[in-house]
Amino acid sequence: MKKILLTLLFPLAFVQAQQSQDAPLNIILMIGDGTGLSQISAGMYANNNQTVLEEFPVIGLSKTHAVKNLVTDSAASGTAMACGEKTYNGVVGMDAKNKKLTSILELCEEIGYNTGLIVNSSIVHATPASFYANINSRKKYEEIALQFIESEVDYFIGGGKKHFEKRKDNRNLIKEMKTVDVVKSFKKYKKSTHNKIGFFTYDDEPPSLNEGRAPLLGEYLSSTLDKLDKRKEPFFLMVEASQIDWGGHANNIDYITSEFIEFNNTINVALNYAKNNPNTLIIVTADHETGGLAITGGGTSPFEMKASFNTGGHSATMVPVFSYGQSSGLFAGIYENTQIFHKMKKALGIN
Ligand code: MG
Ligand code: ZN
Repeated sequence: MKKILLTLLFPLAFVQAQQSQDAPLNIILMIGDGTGLSQISAGMYANNNQTVLEEFPVIGLSKTHAVKNLVTDSAASGTAMACGEKTYNGVVGMDAKNKKLTSILELCEEIGYNTGLIVNSSIVHATPASFYANINSRKKYEEIALQFIESEVDYFIGGGKKHFEKRKDNRNLIKEMKTVDVVKSFKKYKKSTHNKIGFFTYDDEPPSLNEGRAPLLGEYLSSTLDKLDKRKEPFFLMVEASQIDWGGHANNIDYITSEFIEFNNTINVALNYAKNNPNTLIIVTADHETGGLAITGGGTSPFEMKASFNTGGHSATMVPVFSYGQSSGLFAGIYENTQIFHKMKKALGIN
């Protein structure tokens, strides 16, 4: 967050207005990677036929295609949602003509917001990278890490530490992050009272929940919301359940449903925050569907299902957008995924 801008844009009065709807808007954007309607349905059945998404009053549908291909990847769709432009698969934060784009996270920084990224992939993976990087290939992890340390993100939790400290250029980017308290454990993350805190959860990509990934995404969100709440300043947070997609690629229904249930519990943390802070907007969506999943059989006592997959890749079906809280009405209807960026901008009152 840029202090001077904050002072200019939000005079002291906003501190008192924090609990009312007149206070500046907080946004919690929650992305289930590869989470189409079938993944949500499967996760809901596996969760005894319940999902917290049933409490979301506004539902829309997002058209996920990339600029030329009907089937998008997470880079093109991440860029569409983060920056408002369709681009080619594999491209992060740049449009189809290689022009660098400004993300919603960066726009929020400009108006004095605190920002955060919480993911259970590496922090340099395509979805989070769409919010801070501009690069022609999602695979250039070391370059993305360089762009990450130049970004203004205030709080981050994710894997991929090796891209910061075991590099071809021999730089240690963690040491170079002088303004950030980069902690070695979640316990220390919770304890830290620094203005900028980072926690690398794993050296590489985090394992799946079924392989023992811990702590849970909801604990990360809860702790970060506590910190943001204490600051009494508006914020933008992007939270990604990264591995629902990986369960889809593996055509593994248990992988999908376990990761979804963790996501569901994380959404519940956000929802409870928004219930107590009416100046909060939650958007829950996906970048695309993965696996061409269909639920082709099963029973209700207990809820059990038979799953069938059409592909080991992504599919081009529309994905749902659930929204809750202030300005959530903007997200009803059917629209291109790029509109998620434009609707967030409108909700923030940015021209
Ligand atoms: Mg992702
Ligand atoms: Zn994928």
